[in-house]
Amino acid sequence: MKQIIVGNWKMNGLSAEADALVAGLATELATLPTRADVVVCPPFTQLARLGPAVKKAGMALGAQDCHQDKAGAHTGDISAPMLVDLGVEYVILGHSERRGEHHELDETVREKAVAAMAAGLTPIVCVGENADQRASGESEETVGWQIQGSLPQGFRGIVAYEPVWAIGSGTAASQQDIADMAAFIREELVRQFGDAGKTIRILYGGSVNERNVTDILPVEHVDGALVGNASLKAETFVPLVRAAR
Ligand code: PEP
Repeated sequence: MKQIIVGNWKMNGLSAEADALVAGLATELATLPTRADVVVCPPFTQLARLGPAVKKAGMALGAQDCHQDKAGAHTGDISAPMLVDLGVEYVILGHSERRGEHHELDETVREKAVAAMAAGLTPIVCVGENADQRASGESEETVGWQIQGSLPQGFRGIVAYEPVWAIGSGTAASQQDIADMAAFIREELVRQFGDAGKTIRILYGGSVNERNVTDILPVEHVDGALVGNASLKAETFVPLVRAAR
């Protein structure tokens, strides 16, 4: 399976800097002979503007969330068909910052994944334990419940394992922890979806950078990375793409 590197810009990127970042990515990616799939997920406000340049550079456009309904009285929200209308192909769902700051439950994430698939988007569903759950030895149990609760029947998307304690910390999970969890997630996916679970891509996310990426991407069952901070500059993002297979 080809690996995929996904950049999550979070709430960053006014027009000038967003344009400069995509231009920088386009220039540097053009020099790579073969490469992994690359997805950039700018904030909603930049999707329409950046779409053509992102695609021209051979990357795909992703969003950071969508609502579970197609349309209606949901002030401030954006639906999956609206994203498709802008040329978006992927959507991150259930990121720990949304689960935390917007109180999103597994059930909501599952409904959003259904809506995303119905609209033709590929959902990237995030799961991962927090520091307390890790300290009390409940990492697998937590992730197992999140997978069961957040992924709908017939799920055709990507699962991102993002330990909450590693996100934005500067320190990624260890290679062994990532290997153990990726194997556990693969088992869960096969248990839940049968053979289809073997082809669902599993990403690692949480402080991936140029120094640790070569430990992370070769791990069995790891099919790519979801990247926050290091996706905000071409010089820190492109080396991650270069390290992918
Ligand atoms: C993220 O929040 O999805 C993420 C992986 O962030 P960072 O790479 O900055 O830890």
